[in-house]
Amino acid sequence: MPRIAPPDVDRAAAAQAAVAARRARAAVKHAIHDRSRTAVDVVEAAWADPPAPAESSLRVRELLTSIPSLGPTKVARAMQQLGIAESKRVGGLGVRQRRRLLEWLHERENRGTPTPSRLVVLAGPTAVGKGAVSTHIRENYPDVHLSVSATTRAPRSGEVNGVNYFFVSDAEFDRLVETGQMLETATVHNAFRYGTPRAPIDEALAEGKSVLLEIDLQGARSVRAEMPEAVLVFLLPPSWEELVRRLIGRDTEDPVEQQRRLETAKIELAAQDEFDHRVVNHEVGQAAREVVELMAIPHTPSPSRPNRR
Ligand code: 5GP
Repeated sequence: MPRIAPPDVDRAAAAQAAVAARRARAAVKHAIHDRSRTAVDVVEAAWADPPAPAESSLRVRELLTSIPSLGPTKVARAMQQLGIAESKRVGGLGVRQRRRLLEWLHERENRGTPTPSRLVVLAGPTAVGKGAVSTHIRENYPDVHLSVSATTRAPRSGEVNGVNYFFVSDAEFDRLVETGQMLETATVHNAFRYGTPRAPIDEALAEGKSVLLEIDLQGARSVRAEMPEAVLVFLLPPSWEELVRRLIGRDTEDPVEQQRRLETAKIELAAQDEFDHRVVNHEVGQAAREVVELMAIPHTPSPSRPNRR
């Protein structure tokens, strides 16, 4: 039987209704994000009789991701734990799923005010602009303690020992590791060793300061294992083409090294879902602001990870 197309006027009305519904869902997500509504309040509206349409048609994943301090990794873990499929909408949950979700949300809300996470790890692919973002933070947000890494690579022109890095020999790096002075270390781009000195971080945190670590993916994973309270932020380029343009444009690596770094970048981009938050580096000042704002967001360490302290 031939398909009957709806008249143009109906199609236009349907498109308008879809736009209105999307806007209404965005407003609900925004309200959860800025804490003017709780997620419990939203699910209760979705399950009321009659159900509130925007709340009911919201995907569970979107609901949870709107909760400040819950990044994509924690949301994925929670949904798996609750037995809720990726595509489920709040209104489409079964009775048992509703009960589990409500209990889970209540438990989170009743945990009291979580302590602000003051340790933020910024990682991301090569040439995405991590260095520029952390320099901007160092120059414009004096309350943030920026960790200074040790490295075995030679300083580049303009780099200052003790400001950009502690430039050390292989033997000195070995000594720092052997004496337990490093929070994490990694060999980056198969070339030089880099590591985060532990003491300055402990001291800054003890003084109540926020701490920012700008390190590579392996380092971010090590910090997460050591300090589960850390918030992991992944800096993304606006597009792959832009990343390639930035790497080639900065002209600090020869073509062979550029190729090697682009291969590493592909692997690193694939790991972005492990992170709590993603920030797109369209513009350095804006990306820096977003990273700093995450330091004020209350963060609850994931219960599944052991706590070091
Ligand atoms: P670059 O040599 O271009 O300054 O840095 C190369 C890479 O090393 C960057 O991805 C940077 O984030 C990473 N890096 C810098 N310091 C550390 C550190 O202390 N630990 C780890 N794991 N990576 C670092």
